[in-house]
Amino acid sequence: MTARIIDGKAIAAALRADVAAKVAAAGFTPGLAVVLVGEDPASAVYVRTKDRAAREAGIAARTIRLPAGTSQADLLATIRALNEDPAIDGILVQLPLPPGIAPEAVIEAIDPDKDVDGFHPVNVGHLADGRPTLVPCTPLGIMKMLRAIGVTASGARAVVVGRSAIVGRPMARLLLSADATVTVAHSRTRDLPAECRRADILIAATGRPELVRADWVQPGATVIDVGINRLADGRLVGDVAFDACAAVAGAITPVPGGVGPMTVACLLENTLTAALHRRSR
Ligand code: NAD
Repeated sequence: MTARIIDGKAIAAALRADVAAKVAAAGFTPGLAVVLVGEDPASAVYVRTKDRAAREAGIAARTIRLPAGTSQADLLATIRALNEDPAIDGILVQLPLPPGIAPEAVIEAIDPDKDVDGFHPVNVGHLADGRPTLVPCTPLGIMKMLRAIGVTASGARAVVVGRSAIVGRPMARLLLSADATVTVAHSRTRDLPAECRRADILIAATGRPELVRADWVQPGATVIDVGINRLADGRLVGDVAFDACAAVAGAITPVPGGVGPMTVACLLENTLTAALHRRSR
């Protein structure tokens, strides 16, 4: 079998167009603040991508660049000012933060109603409780992608490899809310290949290049690759051995061009959601 290649770029483009249309109809301009601390080159690329995508959707994007030596107190003061700023609907602090700044303290300082990354404990709690409010962009994008290609989570066996707060855990909670039977596997899982082979929907979010091999994939399964790994030779690969797994899976996401564009599109949607919610109160 040769898998259908899931075109994340196209699905994301449709979502971005939908958000842009809703922003145009909203009668106001949502505001997104992206805070970047330090000079991490990958983070700088992500921030530029988010800024450009927001502008294209009619969202007023403000990137706040702070030097690597910024103290935690100064960063928290910046966040408090953004919390109070009526022009700002969404606040995103790009991770990772430089050493010496506790990410938990920073995330908890963000007004939960402006937490467009969905990392604040209040939003994490709502998701855990099955009442999602602002949901982390990557797993939200994956759920939209599954729906767009007609994959039904209800009743399916889903295996999520990775249990990070950013991807694995919220992914598992969304799949559970969509009535999948969910297994969360991780670095201590015994016989990971056997767990993966049970999956109708297999989500790999480990940051381990090409960890998932063809014989881990159930024939016909939907394989979603979250990983973004730069190899020593410069190649960009996911957490799934793409060519070999594409010969077994029913559908599979490429890297790049799969999950990544959905993450950005969902940030825009979350910003609009936050803006509409704040204005409805
Ligand atoms: P993380 O390092 O926080 O978590 C990795 C998880 O994988 C951990 O829970 C760990 O238990 C598990 N793991 C590690 N090695 C394993 C192994 N050998 N077998 C089984 N499980 C293992 O990473 P993260 O933030 O969740 O990101 C994961 C990957 O996804 C990274 O490559 C990251 O760059 C990428 N990512 C992509 C997007 C996107 O938009 N495409 C967004 C976020 C993260």
